[in-house]
Amino acid sequence: MIYYRDLRLDRASDKRKDRSWLRRQWTRRRCRVLVLRHDKSLMRWPQASAPVPEVLHLPQPEVDRLVDDPEHAVFLGLDRAGPLFAIDASSLSERELEPYLLGANEFIDLRDVGWLLDAEQAAQLAYARGLLYWNRHHRFCGVCGHQTLSEQGGHMRRCGNDSCGRMHFPRTDPAVIMLVEDRSDPARRRCLLARNSRFPSRMMSTLAGFVDPLESLEETVAREVFEECGIEVGDIEYQASQPWPFPSSIMLGFRARALTTEIRIDNDEIEEAYWFEAGQLLDFGEWGDDGDSFCLPRRDSIARFLVESWKEEVLKS
Ligand SMILES: [Zn+2]
Repeated sequence: MIYYRDLRLDRASDKRKDRSWLRRQWTRRRCRVLVLRHDKSLMRWPQASAPVPEVLHLPQPEVDRLVDDPEHAVFLGLDRAGPLFAIDASSLSERELEPYLLGANEFIDLRDVGWLLDAEQAAQLAYARGLLYWNRHHRFCGVCGHQTLSEQGGHMRRCGNDSCGRMHFPRTDPAVIMLVEDRSDPARRRCLLARNSRFPSRMMSTLAGFVDPLESLEETVAREVFEECGIEVGDIEYQASQPWPFPSSIMLGFRARALTTEIRIDNDEIEEAYWFEAGQLLDFGEWGDDGDSFCLPRRDSIARFLVESWKEEVLKS
């Protein structure tokens, strides 16, 4: 299972260029709005002990006092239930938000609950988060520094300086993530897992890194593995991808075969790295567990998918 890629919305990317069409969607009786604040989403715990929160889709009139102009909302798309928008409440005070935080309502980080939610709703929240983040961080033109204005339902920002007028579009930064396998002894296949200094203690994961300018994806895989762990790799094969709007990436998953096996960690980003056989991974704990055993990456990450699918393949063979 790869999370955050089950977005079953019609993005209506042609229609959203039409301002009057967008305004009509905003005022439709079936228009629903997601509310986010500092990247967290407004949700509700149905009961105090409920394990899964409920995503709140507010009817548009209920957010009228938060957004006076639909230009300040982002348009996500259409589904059978109608239009879906999202608004960013980051600049609003606690007091202004009080009516929305009654009872069991709460702003919750999607990364803490993503795998508990319905896959489609998790994808919608991820999409809203990425798009609102981009809008919040591109309020000024990177060319002339003038203020930018949202168009196309938040899918484009145009510089407000007439002599510039540059159009800015949401960007997605490609990053590679790879499971490196040692097959030098076919009876004892091993995978390379490492702990980045930013990870919680004991959490081991696959290596990953951003694509440099003018670099092919395969070159990035080979460079990152060598830089971080001193291992040379070949047979680099694409596996799967995952939209990763935390804040603005797409993760491109690969598998690579180790040509050397002596680990030399960079001691900068990587704190520890080891080879593991598939059977050893069965003893790994869950992300967030206490205790001394190694932990798997978070359930919503493609790292987890790469590790689990490799483990199952090896154990079955
Ligand atoms: Zn400009």
